[in-house]
Amino acid sequence: METPLKMKVYNSLTRGLEPLEPMEGGTIRFYTCGPTVYNYAHIGNFRAYTFEDILRRVMQFNGMKVKQVMNLTDVDDKTIRGANAAGVKLTDYTKTYKDAFFADLKVLNIQPAEVYPAATDHIPEMISLVEKLVEKGVAYKSDDGSVYFAVTKFPGYGKLAHIDFDNQRTGARCAADEYDKENVGDFALWKAWEPSDGPVGWDSPWGRGRPGWHIECSAMSMKYLGESFDLHTGGIDNLFPHHENEIAQAEAATGKQFVRTWMHCAHLRVNGEKMSKSLGNFFTLRDLLEKGWTGREIRYVLVNAHYRQGLNFAFSALEDARKALERVDRCVDALAARAKDGEPAPDFAQAALDAFTAAVNDDLNTPKAFAALFDLVRETNASGTCSKAVLDVFRRMDSVLGVIFFGKAAKTEVPAEVQTLLDARAAARAAKNWAESDRLRDAIAAAGWTVKDSKEGQSVTKR
Ligand SMILES: [Zn+2]
Repeated sequence: METPLKMKVYNSLTRGLEPLEPMEGGTIRFYTCGPTVYNYAHIGNFRAYTFEDILRRVMQFNGMKVKQVMNLTDVDDKTIRGANAAGVKLTDYTKTYKDAFFADLKVLNIQPAEVYPAATDHIPEMISLVEKLVEKGVAYKSDDGSVYFAVTKFPGYGKLAHIDFDNQRTGARCAADEYDKENVGDFALWKAWEPSDGPVGWDSPWGRGRPGWHIECSAMSMKYLGESFDLHTGGIDNLFPHHENEIAQAEAATGKQFVRTWMHCAHLRVNGEKMSKSLGNFFTLRDLLEKGWTGREIRYVLVNAHYRQGLNFAFSALEDARKALERVDRCVDALAARAKDGEPAPDFAQAALDAFTAAVNDDLNTPKAFAALFDLVRETNASGTCSKAVLDVFRRMDSVLGVIFFGKAAKTEVPAEVQTLLDARAAARAAKNWAESDRLRDAIAAAGWTVKDSKEGQSVTKR
């Protein structure tokens, strides 16, 4: 399908809106900083992951293919501390949270990335990148066996954060005396082993140790996406120093531009305050599910605000999401029930789709995209249209939003009286009382439900 507008996004590097198109072929090569797997991810983390999900869906909506790489940080101070405190192997400790992360992504209808490299599977790649930087003279080994990147040796340092380091260095040098580092801004590429690391460590040309966090992303992104690629994203708190350091490491090693477009999403606050455990406003996704909210409702709140605007997460927003989704459900269900083939598409459907397309292509303007969705709901209800083409427009919008059809089947709850009949029938079947089983099947059918038997047991669908 022809789209009326090209996709434009805000590039943090140039601080302007720019067209987003693949550098080569039809595929956008795209890297996102993933979770540190030492705990369950919180909703602030999921704001970034849902933003990136909307981004990849809009690229697909525009006919582009996507190769997304998201790293899993499974070695760092926090994971090592957690594993050693629990007295388990690092890999066992992080596996729990890796599995939880993937389960959480499904709950929020986040499309999986194409590659999820784990840091501990790529230590040789990181060592060879550090070696290259040492050879080029932009990195140095300190007395304790750590290796640092010398920021003064990379002239472009600060270009992403738009900080002029040349005018700030004098003060920094004074403070650097107490460090092994030559300059306080220098950052670790390789960290020498310390007793608190316990059994965690790898051999390297500089002795036993482990990689720094920043080198992980440069090494793994270039391995899977090439030395220069299209797009890199993350939360705004990753911009400096993490992403600045990624650029320095990669560009100092290759002499090529690392990434063309950088995109960052703004912070999430809860009830107007920074999320923190001491304020009692710290929520993992699991906490919210336990309180009875669905992944669909949580996703709705996370993607409803524009990604570059701060998002205030409040329970009233979840209430609003529940009501809004009920409105969409009523409209779409009624339309699906009455839709017929051969009905011409009403003009308002194309108008809503055009408005939607313009909105998402304008730097992922999801508030406007939702406004186009609700225009479509209103016009559909008011006109009583029977056109299947309108249903197709809802589907097309939902290929980006991911909140209309997802999770709806699960929402069709089996009424208590039908569940009682089902339980009785399961008991009858277990007792091989086939006559009673058939009688109950008929009773369930009389209540409007069809029961099917399989190896997994009974399942029901509404007729
Ligand atoms: Zn990263």
